[in-house]
Amino acid sequence: MIQISNPHELQRYTNHTKESIGFVPTMGALHDGHISLIKRSVKENAKTVVSIFVNPTQFLEGEDLDSYPRKLEADLKICELAGVDCVFLPNKEEIYKKDEPLVKAPKIKGYILEGLKRPGHFDGVLQIVLKLLNLTKATRAYFGKKDAQQLFLIQDMVKRFFLNIDIVACDIVRDSNGLALSSRNLYLSEEEKKKALCLSKSLKRATRLIIEGERDCMILKSRMLEILSPLSVEYVEIVDRKFNLIDKIQIDNTIILVAAFAGKTRLIDNMWV
Ligand code: AMP
Repeated sequence: MIQISNPHELQRYTNHTKESIGFVPTMGALHDGHISLIKRSVKENAKTVVSIFVNPTQFLEGEDLDSYPRKLEADLKICELAGVDCVFLPNKEEIYKKDEPLVKAPKIKGYILEGLKRPGHFDGVLQIVLKLLNLTKATRAYFGKKDAQQLFLIQDMVKRFFLNIDIVACDIVRDSNGLALSSRNLYLSEEEKKKALCLSKSLKRATRLIIEGERDCMILKSRMLEILSPLSVEYVEIVDRKFNLIDKIQIDNTIILVAAFAGKTRLIDNMWV
């Protein structure tokens, strides 16, 4: 496995690679969720590139950029064991210049839900992802459904900017209690971890009600909020797979989303119905 931190060096590496390239962008502190994406890429491509970069432009003022977990040594070991060919570890100065063209998230779908609570977050996400997709020249790039709105906006950018790359959507990996894995789970105390289970429990309740025949989104949301009461909820929303808000569940075309704080830690989760 090689490590590259200079973008031009990565360009040389990917230019010379004639076989298929799978790419997995991450912010590090790798867990089984990331590993599932990496393993899928290793299986489906001749070469796999993983990036580890805590991208400053997607953090808002006052968010956890400085305290975001960094575990480089362990991450490199994980990548090596998973069969990664190249780890890209850029630094901020090499990837961003002071005055450069910017990518803006769509005015509506980039500014609802996560984008409403974190305005500008998706501008930063799309800016870095576009750079990374161009640098890696990947055949396929792997993203988790855990960040469903991010996944949608990246698929949309790829389509709108006519990028020649397959975006592969990967299922959410959970711990044995149902908690969706996240690097930010490292912030949780034991007490907060128990409370955090309310997110997946609320989604399970909604799924059960849907199986029993409930289709009304208002009713489903209020039943979810009952379970979420130990947390400070930011939103519970139900959208179709194109991120239009909906009133009635559309089977095979719906995502139920929740964002809430357990203590000071902001968590998101969702269920594809
Ligand atoms: P991050 O390091 O948080 O930026 O995540 C990197 C990629 O891993 C993103 O595409 C995430 O959606 C994905 N990811 C994070 N957590 C999970 C999870 N629990 N299951 C599946 N994919 C995940």
